[in-house]
Amino acid sequence: MARYRGSVCRLCRRENLKLFLKGDRCYSDKCGFDRRGYPPGQHGQRRTKFSDYGIQLREKQKVKRLFGLSEKQFRMLFEKADSKKGITGTNLLVFLETRLDNVVYRLGFVNSRTQGRHFVRHGHFIVNGKRVDIPSFMVRPGDVIEVREKSRTVQAINDALDAVVRRGLPQWIEIEKESYKGTVKALPARDDITMPIQEQLIVELYSK
Ligand code: SF4
Repeated sequence: MARYRGSVCRLCRRENLKLFLKGDRCYSDKCGFDRRGYPPGQHGQRRTKFSDYGIQLREKQKVKRLFGLSEKQFRMLFEKADSKKGITGTNLLVFLETRLDNVVYRLGFVNSRTQGRHFVRHGHFIVNGKRVDIPSFMVRPGDVIEVREKSRTVQAINDALDAVVRRGLPQWIEIEKESYKGTVKALPARDDITMPIQEQLIVELYSK
């Protein structure tokens, strides 16, 4: 799978939004977006007027980059959301939000979704008593996610747990910090997803 290897701060600047892709750095005064809040490139500071298609495309790119998915993964998730009962855009956001790499980030076990993906792949987490190393694994209400016993001394996990307060915990999950354990109380509702996302634009783009 092709992987983006360039500067991730460029992605925030391109999408005109802090995507929080770099963990601690995103909250410091070294944040690339805070320092240069205009699109990258030679013509970045020019005013650009987007067509309807351009607006829809940017919204899709923004959400795809926020969750760190490839185009193929994102498209497949959209198709799954579309085939499910309910509002396609909301289904898509719920699917993205309940991916294990995102949930461990939300719980504060890691300090970015990228780190979440790496740590899940390396088998640091247990879901309902079983080791799960698939970042796209989707959690369900009642699931219990724990840091594996052996991994509780990993410095990066402890640092991330200390720093989670500044991000805040969504109300659909809860955490017992002392026991390195999180529980999914319910599926996230649309209002629980507070990032500025207009999912309808993505639905319109893919429905062309
Ligand atoms: Fe984006 Fe700032 Fe984090 Fe870079 S440091 S990834 S610009 S939020």
